[in-house]
Amino acid sequence: MSQAISTLVDTLRVTHHLDGDAYAALLTCGDDEAESLRRQAREVAQQVFGHAIFVRGLVELTNVCRNDCLYCGIRRSNTAVSRYTLTREQVMASCGQGYRLGFRTFVLQGGELPRARAQWVADIVADIRSTWPDCAITLSLGEWPREAYALWRQAGADRYLLRHETHNALHYACLHPSEMSQANRLQCLDHLKALGYQVGTGIMVGSPGQTVAHLVEDIQYIEQLRPHMVGLGPFVPQHDTPLGHHPQGSADLTTRLYAIFRLMMPHALIPSTTALNTIHPQGRLLGIQAGANVVMPNLSPPDMRAHYALYDGKAATAAEAAEGIEQLETQLATIGYHIDWSRGDYRNDNESLVTQNKASKA
Ligand code: SAM
Repeated sequence: MSQAISTLVDTLRVTHHLDGDAYAALLTCGDDEAESLRRQAREVAQQVFGHAIFVRGLVELTNVCRNDCLYCGIRRSNTAVSRYTLTREQVMASCGQGYRLGFRTFVLQGGELPRARAQWVADIVADIRSTWPDCAITLSLGEWPREAYALWRQAGADRYLLRHETHNALHYACLHPSEMSQANRLQCLDHLKALGYQVGTGIMVGSPGQTVAHLVEDIQYIEQLRPHMVGLGPFVPQHDTPLGHHPQGSADLTTRLYAIFRLMMPHALIPSTTALNTIHPQGRLLGIQAGANVVMPNLSPPDMRAHYALYDGKAATAAEAAEGIEQLETQLATIGYHIDWSRGDYRNDNESLVTQNKASKA
């Protein structure tokens, strides 16, 4: 392995920061060097979290969307989609099933509903909060005015996932219609942080038009935002979208990024995503072996899952589904990991980590 790359990996592990050229080198280095990057990230994840993986139950609230992102299967222009919005009773039944299985975090994700639905969402959040006060509630419902985020926070939401998708404005314009603005998305993230949410952001890896320089911009944006969660999955084409002919992203690059973020932010919550598991049969485990520490099995009513088709071939059964939790446990055990059933909030109280790493490099 080249001395230069190994020094960069050591430096990132100890100082949690590199310059842009160094990040680019880690994204493009040879396979052996990338393996060593992932190994160090795995070691850091194990120092912070042991061999425990947090689980979150994902409820796909709706596939109705007012946005028209060029990559997304539920974009409003896709007339091939049969639209649904779960009823409040269906959401509560999904969470109830999740609670019985042991889940203590529910993630409500969906397309972007009409603005008038903000109170409806707040009522559901309040219902979940009062029924299961010991659970964390994560929302991932896209771009809304600050008032809506504040309303949901007040109703009991703890966390919010909103990938920035790309920090480069020109690249953003390749992926979105002109009515959507990157500035608004970044503003939403600022609002969410200011309102006290635990915030997650991230990107699709290998999205059409993405370059190494764009990825470096994304890394530097995330480094500066310091989110609590980082959500990264490969781009996967969906045949009814304008970008449906573009090749999918790679597991190699996706897991390099997991490793970089783990070394940069040892305590961050990093899911090994469904998209990664969709493009690679061992994707979930590869993600964990590169430093990811969260998985999000699907809790949505099984007959609705096929309609939340963000991309082709999206995995939603077996170990990807909440009812397949035993399969997930068995799979994790094959690499020496187990499920941690706690809420899995972001914590940064392991002050000894930096010292430990410094000592081990001395
Ligand atoms: N509407 C909300 C939002 O925009 O954050 C949440 C739902 S959106 C469908 C969730 C995420 O799915 C997006 O942030 C995007 O990164 C991902 N996604 C959409 N289409 C995808 C595709 N073709 N391949 C991989 N990920 C995709």
